[in-house]
Amino acid sequence: MAARVVKNDTVVVLTGRDKGKEGTVTKVLIADNRVVVENINTRIRHVKARQPGQPAGRIEFFAPVAISNVAVVCQSCKRGVKVSFKLLADGTKVRACRKCGDVIEKKVVKDG
Ligand SMILES: [Zn+2]
Repeated sequence: MAARVVKNDTVVVLTGRDKGKEGTVTKVLIADNRVVVENINTRIRHVKARQPGQPAGRIEFFAPVAISNVAVVCQSCKRGVKVSFKLLADGTKVRACRKCGDVIEKKVVKDG
């Protein structure tokens, strides 16, 4: 199946602690159906310095969230929308907003 969410997308969180928050996708974990989103699902890892000069203490990181818990933000609708796929006249497959039909990103959608 083609990816509905790709890196650098702006997404909105639909459920959980960060519900309603928006962020940029920094990583897509296809096998896990999860994405890492900037400033979403912040966790704190407590680490000890194993070597001198290594950071120690509380390290913030962003834990992956399920793709089904986020929605891509349509720049026309200004809200999280469902994504459909559209085939352009030249055969390019693109993602489109299911609400307004606008192309979300003029980028070829890779299957797989
Ligand atoms: Zn739209």
